[in-house]
Amino acid sequence: YSAKLRNDGAVIYDAALDKGSAQSLSLLTELRHAIERDEFRLFVQPKIALKTGQVVGMEALVRWQHPQRGNVFPDAFIPFAEQTGFIRVLTRWVMERSARLCQELEQAGYHLKMSVNLSTRDLMDQDLPVKFGDMLQRHGQSPQSFCLEITESAIMDDPVRAQNTLALLSAMGFELSIDDFGTGYSSLAYLKSLPVNELKIDKSFVLNMETDLGDARIVQSTISLARAMHLRVVAEGIETETVWRLLEGMKCDQGQGYFMSRPIPAAQLEDWLAQWQSPLLEQRAAAE
Ligand code: C2E
Ligand code: MG
Ligand code: MG
Ligand code: MG
Repeated sequence: YSAKLRNDGAVIYDAALDKGSAQSLSLLTELRHAIERDEFRLFVQPKIALKTGQVVGMEALVRWQHPQRGNVFPDAFIPFAEQTGFIRVLTRWVMERSARLCQELEQAGYHLKMSVNLSTRDLMDQDLPVKFGDMLQRHGQSPQSFCLEITESAIMDDPVRAQNTLALLSAMGFELSIDDFGTGYSSLAYLKSLPVNELKIDKSFVLNMETDLGDARIVQSTISLARAMHLRVVAEGIETETVWRLLEGMKCDQGQGYFMSRPIPAAQLEDWLAQWQSPLLEQRAAAE
């Protein structure tokens, strides 16, 4: 494999270099084994209402606990899983575990919205809506408490097919979100035709908005656009309290980021929820 280390110690494979090689065949075999051997891990990152500091939901983010290579991040295998179609298997795994987590949280008294990421290939999977419906039913969950995140580029790969699948999922009650908004090539006219509920501003615009005026302007205009279209707007990549405050001032509804929490193993979420206190609320209380 062409592997390199990320600064957080996670291994990245360069799928592009592996393409068509004997290694890519073995990566596919490894991914299949990973399902059988239960090596995937469900991580979740809390989603916060920026005005109140309340936890409103969470996003499912998959990790691969590789026996030799340790914690492998999605960027290292999702693109490859998409190319090979393995993503369909993985998406079902993620939805199944997410539904199970929601059921457990409900029993503990938490009613949070669960966001799950979908890929292009998922939108071409005719059986997906029915499969999702079955899984949720088995865990006593309804589509209304799930939001499906799709990137602009995933939709634009095959706009007609995407529109059909998304219409079906929306009719079932799933909420839909456009992920990494601002990085793709979708037209506003096309987006308007989709049954979307939420826009997620890509973290590349949020990370440096404190110091980069251009980024701050992009964020502000995306929020205005979302509000004008009556869509919920979410910022990802909030790493400082200052950025949280800036976004709150710009009337961004929700946010996610390392400042509130990194993605954590699903099993740790209940503990995290029990100890979460919004730093903003603490300061307001202190000021009163
Ligand atoms: P995404 O859906 O846009 O997820 C947001 C990414 O930003 C996550 O990376 C998250 O850990 C990271 N992030 C969140 N807050 C911060 C922050 O404050 N600072 C920084 N620097 N990063 C932050 P992650 O978990 O590595 O996932 C990367 C991408 O892989 C996701 O982007 C998504 O496109 C894909 N992915 C992850 N899990 C799944 C999955 O189950 N299915 C599919 N189809 N794709 C997935
Ligand atoms: Mg996402
Ligand atoms: Mg995103
Ligand atoms: Mg992303």
